[in-house]
Amino acid sequence: MAVPFRKVSKTRKRKRRTHFKLSIPGMVECPQCHEMKLSHRVCKSCGYYKDREVVSK
Ligand SMILES: [Zn+2]
Repeated sequence: MAVPFRKVSKTRKRKRRTHFKLSIPGMVECPQCHEMKLSHRVCKSCGYYKDREVVSK
């Protein structure tokens, strides 16, 4: 519901935004290149999944 922004206190606004996440959940660090990648997906930056290369660069 739209509310005039001055009616929402800083605290209330911040409390609501604690549920906003900066990054997509399910991001894990690639054990191969230490980039952030989606879990259960092939790493985009090195093409590795489960200790072997499945996608060539
Ligand atoms: Zn990787």
